[in-house]
Amino acid sequence: MSPLEAAYAVLRQNPLWRQMFELNPAIQLIIDPVSRVVIDANPAACRFYRYRREEFKSLLFDHIEVNALPEGDLGSESMTFSFQHRIRGGELRDVKVNASAYDFDGETLTHMILVDITKRRRAEAAEQDQRALSAALATTTAALNSSLDLHEVLDRILEQVQHLIPCDFINIMLIENDYAAVVRSRGYEQTVNIEEYLGVKLNIHSTPTLRWMIENNRSLLIADIATDPRWRQLHTTEDWLKSYLGIPIRMGSHVIGFLNLDGSAPMAAVDYDERVLQAFADQAGVAIRNARLYERVQRQAMLMEQRVAERTAELEYERRQLRAILDSMTEGVIYSEPDSNGLLQPRYLNRAMARLLGQEHQEDLYSLIARIDALAIEGSDQPSVRSVISAALDQQPVVSMQLSLVGPDGARVEASLTTTRVDSLSGELLGAVTVVRDISREIALERQRSRFVAQASHELRTPLANMKTRLYLLRRQPERIDTHLPVLEKATSHMWRLVENLLDISRLERGAVRLDLEQLEVQEVVAFVVEAHRPAVEIKGQRLHVDLPDEPLVLIADGDRLIQVLNNLVANASAYTPAGGIITVRALRVPEMDAGESPPAGVRIDVIDTGIGIPPDRREEIFQPFYRIADDNDGSGLGLSITREIIHLHGGTIQVGGMPEGGSCFTLWLPLRQDAAGGADAPR
Ligand code: ADP
Repeated sequence: MSPLEAAYAVLRQNPLWRQMFELNPAIQLIIDPVSRVVIDANPAACRFYRYRREEFKSLLFDHIEVNALPEGDLGSESMTFSFQHRIRGGELRDVKVNASAYDFDGETLTHMILVDITKRRRAEAAEQDQRALSAALATTTAALNSSLDLHEVLDRILEQVQHLIPCDFINIMLIENDYAAVVRSRGYEQTVNIEEYLGVKLNIHSTPTLRWMIENNRSLLIADIATDPRWRQLHTTEDWLKSYLGIPIRMGSHVIGFLNLDGSAPMAAVDYDERVLQAFADQAGVAIRNARLYERVQRQAMLMEQRVAERTAELEYERRQLRAILDSMTEGVIYSEPDSNGLLQPRYLNRAMARLLGQEHQEDLYSLIARIDALAIEGSDQPSVRSVISAALDQQPVVSMQLSLVGPDGARVEASLTTTRVDSLSGELLGAVTVVRDISREIALERQRSRFVAQASHELRTPLANMKTRLYLLRRQPERIDTHLPVLEKATSHMWRLVENLLDISRLERGAVRLDLEQLEVQEVVAFVVEAHRPAVEIKGQRLHVDLPDEPLVLIADGDRLIQVLNNLVANASAYTPAGGIITVRALRVPEMDAGESPPAGVRIDVIDTGIGIPPDRREEIFQPFYRIADDNDGSGLGLSITREIIHLHGGTIQVGGMPEGGSCFTLWLPLRQDAAGGADAPR
């Protein structure tokens, strides 16, 4: 027993020591600071180091102390240090050691109280690890999420993964419909055909590596592909490939793809931190999902944009179509919308409306709108155009009015105005459409019609009254039948002619007369008419001249109608020429004579008399039905209007002029070829 051990044996006898060392649960060791031999260990120390008390006695402190303390340090007065101790079996524990030096009769021993801080240390280390991992992941996550472009995100994944694990060959696969396709790769340029490689698609159910990762929901390390049955060779050229590490890219619990790290050397699990790589792959999953969502939103936005563009083009087309329709209308259209005060203001006028306002184009909307007010007839108490537009503000859906307006040339225009409300589905007033129709012609025609009826009735009344009187007289004086009968006959035939003429003119005006066209020679027709009239003309003491060319004038015309026209003109010439006068009928081919202004080749027939003539201001009116300059014969005033209708139906013209020596000249022009003038159906 060494002197130190002897001194310690004395100490052990002390009951207080027993209390403090033997029974105390704190781990305690007694060491010889010089020989570094463990002199004693308390039961707590035996439990901790897993040595029996006797076994300790042959142990050197250095056997349990991992980081050997420098010589002499154990002899110091008192110190606290943390180190790692090796317990039985080699396991290392973190301990906090409090060592105190005691002196016994010149001998020094070291008393150590140890606290096992392994758990605390591990927790601390884990926390530190976690913190470092979080920091690393935060950086990579930020890098991944800094783009929403899928291609860029994939590039960044490749870039960032290399910060976490050095690798020469890396690719990303994304799953779509049971197939994982390589979408990005790095490092393969020298080893494979990259075009082909990027097209590689693997069935996730039949590819063992991929299926393993999906089923186990974690990364797969194939340290040596030569020996692992899960490896399936894809290319025979892959002899450079030695190891494989696959990490599933997950979205929650769902695997959406894989990070594949191919190694040209065998790899070991200690070469990387699986948790870090998986956490990174999960972040990559989020970034890919975000990019895909963004892509979808972008696609949607583009689609929307395209739809909007298409719809706009459609609307523009419809707008143009509507405008073309409105501008081709003969009626004027004003579209008005309510202003901020709720008053209807014109916003659009079509071309016909612009014309009605005296302009060819409707571009200068404002000056045109200003003119709308000027349409009203000054001083009249009739409603204005604006008041007809504003009528839409009342609840009636359609308002119609007839107004007299002042046209652009100052002439009076009779117009019918109809304003229609344009309502929204909820019944709110959106605008009003006002259609302005020039009905001047309709009104004139209506007036003409009623005048015609009045005149016709008047013309019929005279012979009827005559007949009535004669019938009355005949009843009272039956013996004077020979006096009354001729008058009755004359009145009857006059009425007959009148009614025939009335029917004729109405049929002609309605367009109900069809010409019976034939080829005829003008000379023959003229000769026929002249010879028919000659006896009566000569009885009146007039002379009848005919002036016809030798060359036959051939026409396509209705012979009976042409005879009707010439009969009427010759009869009139005779009727309005005193005895001794001359009536001439002349025919010639034009344009030989009147080249230049005259219409295309045709036949001109003049009926000239030396009679009373027609004042220039009546020359247009005599062609109106019932118009007669004087009432001094029994003419009906219908002959010339029938004549004009027939000539127009042939595509020809009729004019009347005066002769220098007095008398009248009626000039007909008829086209040689019917088609040149539109033929029998030509518009009149
Ligand atoms: P009417 O049966 O009265 O002759 P028309 O329509 O043939 O009817 O002629 C209309 C009017 O034109 C006649 O009433 C007459 O006043 C005038 N008129 C027609 N032909 C001549 C003529 N050759 N000379 C003078 N006046 C004419």
